[in-house]
Amino acid sequence: MYTNSDDSLVERVEDQLLRLLQDEYAKKQQISDELLSSLNFVFGNPLLPALDLVDHSNITKFSSPSGRVAFQVKGTTGHLYALLPSSQFCSCPYHEFGVLKRKEAPMCKHALAVLISCAVGTCKEASLSDEHLAQLLLTNTDTAVDET
Ligand SMILES: [Zn+2]
Repeated sequence: MYTNSDDSLVERVEDQLLRLLQDEYAKKQQISDELLSSLNFVFGNPLLPALDLVDHSNITKFSSPSGRVAFQVKGTTGHLYALLPSSQFCSCPYHEFGVLKRKEAPMCKHALAVLISCAVGTCKEASLSDEHLAQLLLTNTDTAVDET
């Protein structure tokens, strides 16, 4: 059974791996097989699709004048997902069923793609007014499946 200390241990391992990824990519512009298999072990199935999203530059980081930040990920079907940097919440069905219900992976491919693209520095950047940034996040909530 999971306890809080296990959760924070998992988070530390994730952080460490992402830092390794950042260092390695900065030096060699590629990811070694060894690191890939560690990433795969920790992040599971969403890893390869996430790398694919990063490869296709599907991640955009939006900043507003007041300093708020949100990420937008274009999914494989062209659907847009908005994510906040501080949470790994995503409105995609996999987040709800694969991550929260079946606990198959710590996060979905969109949230993982955001982390990876930030670590390797391939995230596109754009500015957005505070109003538009709020709208981006609200639109996202509307598309989420409501299962109450
Ligand atoms: Zn997602």
